[in-house]
Amino acid sequence: MALRSTKYNIEPTMVRHPPTIVCYICGREYGTKSISIHEPQCLKKWHNENNLLPKELRRPEPKKPEVRTITAKGFYDLDALTEAAWTSAQSQLVPCNICGRTFLPDRLIVHQRSCKPKAAK
Ligand SMILES: [Zn+2]
Ligand SMILES: [Zn+2]
Repeated sequence: MALRSTKYNIEPTMVRHPPTIVCYICGREYGTKSISIHEPQCLKKWHNENNLLPKELRRPEPKKPEVRTITAKGFYDLDALTEAAWTSAQSQLVPCNICGRTFLPDRLIVHQRSCKPKAAK
C-alpha cells in the first residue's frame, strides 16, 4: 500500500520572522536548528546547577512540553509551542520568600543577599 503524499506542506512564506523555538529549560529563544543542539546541553547544565543548589531550591527535572507543533493546516503551531515552553521555563523559577519576585534558583541566592524586607512605614 503506497502512502499518499500529504496535501499539506510547511509554507516558509507563512512565517513572518525566522522561526525560533523557546527552550523549555532556560526560556531563551533558539533557531530551529540550534535548539536541537542546545537542548541536551542546557539539560546537562541544568542538572549540574540543580545539584549545586541547596535541597530546598532543587526542582524536578523540566519536562519537554508535548505540543502538536504541526496544526491541521500543516503549519508549525509555533505560538502553542512557544507558550508551552515558556510555561515550562517559568515553572523553573522560584519565588523569593521575602519580596515574592521569582528568580532562577542561582539568581535567587544572589538576590536574597541584597533583598531586605521593606521597612514598615
Ligand atoms: Zn536552554
Ligand atoms: Zn526578594
